[in-house]
Amino acid sequence: MIELRNLTLIELQELISSLGEPSYRAKQVFEWIHKGANSFDELTNIPKGLRERLASISYIENIKTAEKFVSNIDETTKYLLQLSDGNFIECVLMKYKHGYTVCISTQIGCRMGCKFCASSHTAFSRNLTAGEMLGQVLLASNEVAKATNGDVTRVSNVVLMGIGEPLDNFDNVLKFFELVNAPDGINIGQRHISLSTCGLADKIRELSKRNLQITLSVSLHAALDETRSEIMPINQRFDIDELMNACREYAETTGRRISFEYALIAGVNDGREDAMMLAELIKKYFSRNSVYIKPTDFTKKVDINLGLVHINLIPINYVNESGYERSKDAEKFRAELERRGVTATLRRELGTDIAAACGQLRAERVE
Ligand code: SAH
Repeated sequence: MIELRNLTLIELQELISSLGEPSYRAKQVFEWIHKGANSFDELTNIPKGLRERLASISYIENIKTAEKFVSNIDETTKYLLQLSDGNFIECVLMKYKHGYTVCISTQIGCRMGCKFCASSHTAFSRNLTAGEMLGQVLLASNEVAKATNGDVTRVSNVVLMGIGEPLDNFDNVLKFFELVNAPDGINIGQRHISLSTCGLADKIRELSKRNLQITLSVSLHAALDETRSEIMPINQRFDIDELMNACREYAETTGRRISFEYALIAGVNDGREDAMMLAELIKKYFSRNSVYIKPTDFTKKVDINLGLVHINLIPINYVNESGYERSKDAEKFRAELERRGVTATLRRELGTDIAAACGQLRAERVE
């Protein structure tokens, strides 16, 4: 059976014409399923005969909300979703001043094994299709429309930062960018999309060749190979040098700024030395006028052109199995980076009370 929401308009046109139907029907069907229609019955301007023939060879994935968790501290909502094959995923809807952002999952489970992340503690079962990724965006958009009585009709930004490693599902993710950007669909452009990766350097290189306009976020979390390999097994395959070279290539070919994520874990990566190493690492790969500042020099402030990078510090969020504790030195860490000419921002946390924050998604049902 063909998943209709996974088809581009051209693919749908081919399918419809193979049924001997005119191509404008394809556009109509496309518009319905990109509005979030979940069944053939909802396609009211499509003749019954065509709906029946479509239903015999294809289906519209009906993503169901199994549970909804609303934060008491901010307006974040986490959705536990069930796919038609019974699998669970999660997506998170966040409200910002400029609009709504949805954080979507890209896989069922994750095989990257990062020690601090809840998604690593659930078994990997399969990749999501592009249609299933789009389905999460449509579901979130329809929720926004409901909540605002139609004042806001859709989410404005999409982040691929939910469960899964997007670059481990490369082809489907690229197809998702195409579907979500379709003029006859929800039409969200690449500049409104961010993808976060744990650092598959080969795929980052591959991505640079596509010359996309999306924002790339890289989960760095340590500036020393030894530490990074300990908390992120992927570092044993692509070490920091290889990763940073790939990132630099991405930034240079696309002209887009890279965002590095750094989750501060007490006693693991949050010391002054760690901040120093991080600053030197960033300068080594991203500036031409790199200046080394002695660890003992507290007063010197330098301004280096690091236009192509941004550092996001995240206080590590609680995950049951990890045993890691949140750093108490986030502000000190940030200040140390700044003294060395590297500016960083501390990420605002959303949805911690409903386990919807970074690294807390696991899509397990709490019975
Ligand atoms: N697989 C991708 C997408 C996940 S994005 C990636 O690794 O980037 C989720 C972000 O939250 C990543 O930067 C991830 O490293 C970070 N993260 C994971 N666990 C976390 C935790 N317990 N606290 C804070 N951030 C965490």
